[in-house]
Amino acid sequence: FKLTLDTDLYKGTLSVNTGLFINGEWVKPVEGGTHDVYNPSTGKVLTKISAGSSKDVDIAVNAAKKAFKTTWGLHMPGSDRGKCLLKLADLMEKHRDELAALEALDVGKPYPVAWRADLNASIGTIRYYGGWADKVQGKTIETTENKLAYTRHEPYGVVGCIIPWNFPLLMLTWKIGPALAVGNTVVLKPSENTPLTALRIAGLLNEAGFPPGVLNIVNGLGPVVGEAIAYHPEIRKVAFTGSILVGRKIQEASAKSNLKSVSLELGGKNPNIIFDDCDFEQALKWASIGVFGNMGQVCTAGTRIFVQEGIHDKFVAALTAAAQGLQTGTGDPFSKTTKHGPQVSQIQFERVMGYINDGKAAGATVTFGGEAHGGDGYFVQPTIFTDCKPDMKIVKEEIFGPVAAIMKFKTEEEVVEMANDTSYGLACGIFTENVSRAIRMSHALEAGMAWVNCYGTSEYQVPFGGNKQSGIGRELGEYAIDLFTEVKAVHINV
Ligand code: NAD
Repeated sequence: FKLTLDTDLYKGTLSVNTGLFINGEWVKPVEGGTHDVYNPSTGKVLTKISAGSSKDVDIAVNAAKKAFKTTWGLHMPGSDRGKCLLKLADLMEKHRDELAALEALDVGKPYPVAWRADLNASIGTIRYYGGWADKVQGKTIETTENKLAYTRHEPYGVVGCIIPWNFPLLMLTWKIGPALAVGNTVVLKPSENTPLTALRIAGLLNEAGFPPGVLNIVNGLGPVVGEAIAYHPEIRKVAFTGSILVGRKIQEASAKSNLKSVSLELGGKNPNIIFDDCDFEQALKWASIGVFGNMGQVCTAGTRIFVQEGIHDKFVAALTAAAQGLQTGTGDPFSKTTKHGPQVSQIQFERVMGYINDGKAAGATVTFGGEAHGGDGYFVQPTIFTDCKPDMKIVKEEIFGPVAAIMKFKTEEEVVEMANDTSYGLACGIFTENVSRAIRMSHALEAGMAWVNCYGTSEYQVPFGGNKQSGIGRELGEYAIDLFTEVKAVHINV
């Protein structure tokens, strides 16, 4: 794939190898498949890339197994593994413009957002885990007389990683950073919608000093390559980010194959709760970012916005104006005027419009948006619904698009009940100047993450993950070291 862009924001040639990256080399799939990758801003095919099959997954697993046993894993000191990750972070920094442009092209997100937010977090994650590689420690445990026990955190061996399309590069780094730092080798499958940045990263691995087979990238369709990873008898762990539907399939595959360890980062229908006593401007700013950021394609998006009755009408008017302000220019990710881009694919576009039409039919009121907004790309207006009822689909189900459902509440007790009335439990937001209430609410809400007077900020030092049906396990921070290692207890008779 080669494309020369000459825009206000990016000028240069983008080039990625579209093969599979296995054992340090670019290869063609055994069965020779390809699939199309679309540009969401135009709806046109951007390129064709190789699509693997279970045979390619087998070859990749063999390469990863060999690397684990001979060059990586416990054969290479953590400090040397760390050097490879730190070098990769430096190379990502060097190629930041190019990676940001590929991400903007593939996902449709504005180039300046990709350049700053996605690249800062992605490079930071790789660098952070590069630092961890020689700091993984166990415990010494006192037992009965003349006995000593200690623990070691050992890598699983070959780990499978399956990632989604909303933050393709960032999700790759959340998986490979900790997985490789602790000594695993990896077979990774990007989303079929957005494979380009993963392929560009593959092109940097040899230069970063990773031995062949340490990280293998097998593109292809979910039910083909993803399923082959999930069922593979020699993969000891699968780390998955995506939908609940597929998360269930991954667990089922583990149960039916080798009981591999499974960690899941799934969806959310997150409550963002705005009390009368909040700092209004801050609440407005973060609520808007929380629901419309990345065109609403964020698992932690604060899509159920509960506003206390005293400021409800004022808040609705202000968020409506904010939504209106987002819709500038053409939506082209490389245009300076763009703030709001397209949904990632035709399927997502139709899905989001389906929910919007359902909300209208169910009697909710649209204060802004509610329509596709022109052009051939997959553009949906930032949309705000009021008069929402708890049983409406737009309130109950994850839309994964720029759609807010605003509800009014009176008391703290009432809003806790309303917010927890969901099978999801990923994140929540609380806006109040009352510190006791902020702490009470953070503890009462059923979620893996609570943001107080901010929303959606994720830091690589801090654990990330969900309760209830939003997931199993915690990524990032020291918690990801646990996620990608098994604990061995060693007993010694002294
Ligand atoms: P998805 O579940 O359809 O796909 C995710 C990945 O799984 C893709 O790579 C896909 O190819 C693969 N896949 C599809 N079918 C498979 C199968 N049968 N076996 C194995 N792999 C398969 O999700 P998506 O549409 O790419 O992403 C959107 C979803 O991801 C949303 O529900 C969102 O909430 C969730 N998400 C969660 C987080 C989080 O950290 N909690 C982050 C981003 C996205």
